[in-house]
Amino acid sequence: ELFQPARRNSEGWDLTDRRTLARFDEARAPWKTHQWHAGPLLPGAPTPAGPAEPVTNPARPDDIVGHVRTATEAEVETALAAAGPWDAPVDMRAEVLNRAADLYEKNAGQFFALAAREAGKTPLDAVGELREAVDFLRYYASLAGDLDGNPLGTVACISPWNFPLAIFTGQIAGALAAGNAVLAKPAEQTPLIAHLASCLLLEAGVPDTALAFLPGDGATVGRAITSDARVNGVAFTGSTETARLIQRAMADHLTPGAPLVAETGGLNAMIVDSTALLEQAVRDVVASAFQSAGQRCSALRCLYVQEDIAPAFRRMLDGAIAELSLGDPWDISTDIGPLIDAEAQGNISDYVTKHPAAQAVPAPETGLFHGPTVIPVQGIAALGREVFGPVLHIATFKADHLNDVISAINETGYGLTFGLHTRIDSRVQEIVEAVHAGNIYVNRNQIGAVVGSQPFGGEGLSGTGPKAGGPWYPRRFQSGGSAPVEA
Ligand code: GLU
Repeated sequence: ELFQPARRNSEGWDLTDRRTLARFDEARAPWKTHQWHAGPLLPGAPTPAGPAEPVTNPARPDDIVGHVRTATEAEVETALAAAGPWDAPVDMRAEVLNRAADLYEKNAGQFFALAAREAGKTPLDAVGELREAVDFLRYYASLAGDLDGNPLGTVACISPWNFPLAIFTGQIAGALAAGNAVLAKPAEQTPLIAHLASCLLLEAGVPDTALAFLPGDGATVGRAITSDARVNGVAFTGSTETARLIQRAMADHLTPGAPLVAETGGLNAMIVDSTALLEQAVRDVVASAFQSAGQRCSALRCLYVQEDIAPAFRRMLDGAIAELSLGDPWDISTDIGPLIDAEAQGNISDYVTKHPAAQAVPAPETGLFHGPTVIPVQGIAALGREVFGPVLHIATFKADHLNDVISAINETGYGLTFGLHTRIDSRVQEIVEAVHAGNIYVNRNQIGAVVGSQPFGGEGLSGTGPKAGGPWYPRRFQSGGSAPVEA
């Protein structure tokens, strides 16, 4: 039976409130030019300093956010050898995770500054990032009553740069709540914010044998911790291709049955029919496709608009896109920040250049920006692969071809998010049942799943489940803890 604790998510920061906005600015101001230093965190003596790489601000190449020293092979070995399950009673583990959540909130200003300067997050996204991280900690702690089973042992957690605090923390908190030791590898692009988070987890009382922080790249640190027989499970969020590599490495080296909890890519669609409330649909399309510069795996990639309303819809959409402000994510007025790195920017501009019909808003010359772009297509089959940036494909459909649209969406093989705008109830029922996607949103945007109430994760090429922020997630990190198939 499912244990459903009484609990509440954090309040977050409502930046539309003038006083909250002033507090937000005041909290992050001391960190505007600060430089952080990150390195491995291992059991025992502090790790020595060594040659460190600069971490730069993707919006402002002259802003050095800090330096990171990556973990050596010997340090990864030390972490693997020292890791041991966290054998404190469940209540105590929950208490420590709750304490970590409080420490995160106390350090909000530093996290907001790092989210902007290291990860290119706008104020809205920075607030969401901290909020989700804190909610993961408290939510998994609240499930403690359900987690007195046996931990797997040691879990490798490999997290992405697009949610460098929230997903980094969610994976670790899920595995720790279940009593495991964690080897955490943050994304190469965002080690500083993850380092601060790890320091706070340790300060809250996570033993150093239960949490090692190992900054480095996938080919060295990532590979080492997913192909070692001392590791008993892996949590991974990132591309479908990397998930496949990890699966192979695990099959070759780990004990059979060691779980891989993977959250991967999506080719997410939305359908807007002719009964939709256009003003609302346009707003939700803009948020779904362009918030976070489209760098969410939940983001809308292919929009289907019913033919009869397509011209009116497109005019309104173009108007809304023209209102978006692109720029330094430190500024409160910025809606769209930069892409994460030069490689991402290169990929997006190459892709857009190949589509003569693409309409892109011009972007600032300095900084790794790409303007929101709309590309007309015949259908979702034209996409081929996930384009991880502010690029929205738009197709039209005739009313009597709705079933073909749904088949095309399902045939991509991905199944992460799906959006629908219609005011016909029976159509909602029909489409929601027919579309294969982990998270389906009706008459709203399709990003920003809420911990505890909207567990997040996909099917098919989009991930393995169990869903993050749902009750089965930490259970998967215990032996015999596989979840039933989720609705
Ligand atoms: N959970 C996020 C959302 O609902 C997306 C996570 C991701 O991009 O990996 O928007």
